[in-house]
Amino acid sequence: MKTIADYIRTIPNFPHEGIMFRDVTTLFNDARGFRMAVDTLLHPFAGRPIDRVAGLEARGFILGGAVAHQLGVGFIPVRKAGKLPHDRISQDYTLEYGTATVELHTDSFEPGESVLIVDDLLATGGTAEAGIKLIERLGGKVAGCAFVVDLPDLGGRARLEAMGVEVHALCS
Ligand code: AMP
Repeated sequence: MKTIADYIRTIPNFPHEGIMFRDVTTLFNDARGFRMAVDTLLHPFAGRPIDRVAGLEARGFILGGAVAHQLGVGFIPVRKAGKLPHDRISQDYTLEYGTATVELHTDSFEPGESVLIVDDLLATGGTAEAGIKLIERLGGKVAGCAFVVDLPDLGGRARLEAMGVEVHALCS
């Protein structure tokens, strides 16, 4: 029986020399693999009071939308700068080379609501940390972060847990 990791394709040196790119399109493309990933992602949070699911652009939209549907709650996109049309807040974060910005609509949820963050992969944790900050700046509570892949050597889990956030990953 195939595991989640078996469905993920590794592309060496993409998009840069030295990066092992973990390609989850092969997981999404397989009916059993995709269902298993979505069901396992939401498993630690089933029965808990989750009000929304936030997906991190772009692969977090595919997973997060499916998780939100399964939980019966709304979906929030955390988008790269310049894509959201309505009133929004921005959060900068550091990349290996330079900085990036993610944004959230200010009316995404009510203050006090509990938001589950979903993405395909946790590396340094910079992207997820920016998402957490956006949610907390709007008065939301982060119920946890759920990823398909954790790259533990890059320290993302420790970084998010140091913020007091619960982290789950399906494989590492
Ligand atoms: P980070 O902010 O460093 O935790 O990086 C996480 C984001 O970058 C996620 O949205 C991933 O989709 C993407 N990412 C980083 N490293 C990889 C990798 N080796 N393979 C695939 N995606 C990656």
